[in-house]
Amino acid sequence: SPTVGVLALQGDVREHLAALERLGVATTRVRRPEEVDAVDALVVPGGESTTMAKLARTFGVLDPLRKRIGAGLPVLGTCAGMIMLADRVLDGAAGQETLGGIDMTVRRNAFGRQVDSFEGPVEVAGLDTPVHGVFIRAPWVESVGDGVEVLARVDHDGAPGGAAGRIVAVRQGCLMATSFHPEVGEDSRVHGLFVDLVRGS
Ligand code: GLN
Repeated sequence: SPTVGVLALQGDVREHLAALERLGVATTRVRRPEEVDAVDALVVPGGESTTMAKLARTFGVLDPLRKRIGAGLPVLGTCAGMIMLADRVLDGAAGQETLGGIDMTVRRNAFGRQVDSFEGPVEVAGLDTPVHGVFIRAPWVESVGDGVEVLARVDHDGAPGGAAGRIVAVRQGCLMATSFHPEVGEDSRVHGLFVDLVRGS
């Protein structure tokens, strides 16, 4: 059985560990370079992407993670984690670094500020019924390259300039990302899709 790590520098680490444990997979926290080498897959949680990137640099895991992603490490990124997996970021902080890996342009805080956080049903490709999507200062995917599969879109009227059919979940190879927080609540189906990818890789 694979060991799935959760990047534990910042953000909602415990909720992801719990979601993975409900699926019966072995989990561990990843904070140091040697821990990067020890996992078969990784979850990059929600939180704050500029802080997470800075801490990844400080803890010496940014480049080891980039190397492993380049070599095919399966990764699920949620919210700030989606930003971390993006090759390109709009509205990022000056000099904001990412891990990269998914050929997409992500707009940070796209759905608005904290007060504009929202929840609602999201239909995700591969799942029979919608998941309850929790969006907290969430990014959306502005555009994707040819190799990227769109897994979900949402319409959110409250977003600045409107947000019809915005991309909120994607997959490229064994990299997956969601704008929303699938670790909130008891529904582990999005993590389940990721674990299926891990087992198939
Ligand atoms: N707005 C945050 C960022 O820029 C992401 C928010 C979240 O992860 N809930 O990183």
